[in-house]
Amino acid sequence: MNCLRGATAVLLALVVPAFVSSGSALAGAATASPAAAAACAAIDASNEASGLPSTFPDSGCNWIGRVIRDNGIGVTVPGAGFTAGAEALYVSGSQTLNVTHGADGTITVRRAASTSVSPAIILAACSDTADALLGFRVSGGYSYRYNSAAVPSNVSGTAVGAISAGFTNLAANFTDCSGITKHPAPVPHYLGTTTTFANVFTNYTCAAADGQNVVSWLGSPGPLALTCWVASGGILVQSDLAINHGDSWFTGAVPAGCSNSFDLQGVVTHEAGHAYGLAHTPGDPVTHQNQTMNSALSGCTTKYQTLGTGDLNGMIALY
Ligand SMILES: [Zn+2]
Repeated sequence: MNCLRGATAVLLALVVPAFVSSGSALAGAATASPAAAAACAAIDASNEASGLPSTFPDSGCNWIGRVIRDNGIGVTVPGAGFTAGAEALYVSGSQTLNVTHGADGTITVRRAASTSVSPAIILAACSDTADALLGFRVSGGYSYRYNSAAVPSNVSGTAVGAISAGFTNLAANFTDCSGITKHPAPVPHYLGTTTTFANVFTNYTCAAADGQNVVSWLGSPGPLALTCWVASGGILVQSDLAINHGDSWFTGAVPAGCSNSFDLQGVVTHEAGHAYGLAHTPGDPVTHQNQTMNSALSGCTTKYQTLGTGDLNGMIALY
């Protein structure tokens, strides 16, 4: 979908109405009873997760295709029996938004943001055992494509290799820690380039699943990177990764004079963790700053290419 592309405020304003009019989002409201239609209208007036109860019934108000947003990211409500999630990584922290559409029609919204407590101890990667899971695993295999449109010029020749290495680091349990029995996940398969974009609107809202896993670049403002996922019955259905081309990226060694520039391979290793079912490391992001799945990643380091003990514990639990 070309409407997923671009970074301007004008496009941003057009995206959601275009999606609603072409989808089924308002179909339920049009046929609902007056009372149900009124309830739908009230909900539509505030699709910010902060203005919604954490659990509510779908009855009389078709939520499939509607967007729920929270602090700058969003999720498109999936069909009954599916959960859709957005995992956003910012320079200063992270944010999670999950929407589960139960088989009985109940909608459950879960929001989480990283919080920091000061002062905090800092754990070494191989001494930190903390991990958390998203509630699904990859089964059968994971194949993805890459769209190089808008790739930052300084990594245009190396990005695809760094992205591929990131997925491999995660799935193969690449680590410097010893004494841990690895649990490799299904091998990621890179299928080549595509002109399709990651299933993410320009305002960093995850769109409805389109059947393919894509990595592509998206503009500012927004998180450093956003993984969107859809799962059902504890198995991943699809994930997409949008990487912010407005941030500074490097591949290879940390560049001289580095300042607020991020290792593409390391960040993709983290994002691959989400695609394979890992949540952000629970707890203080300063304490857990050496875990690849930490809820905040530092710039000017390549340390996130290798998994810490907590990251590995998550993989061991899943695979
Ligand atoms: Zn993340």
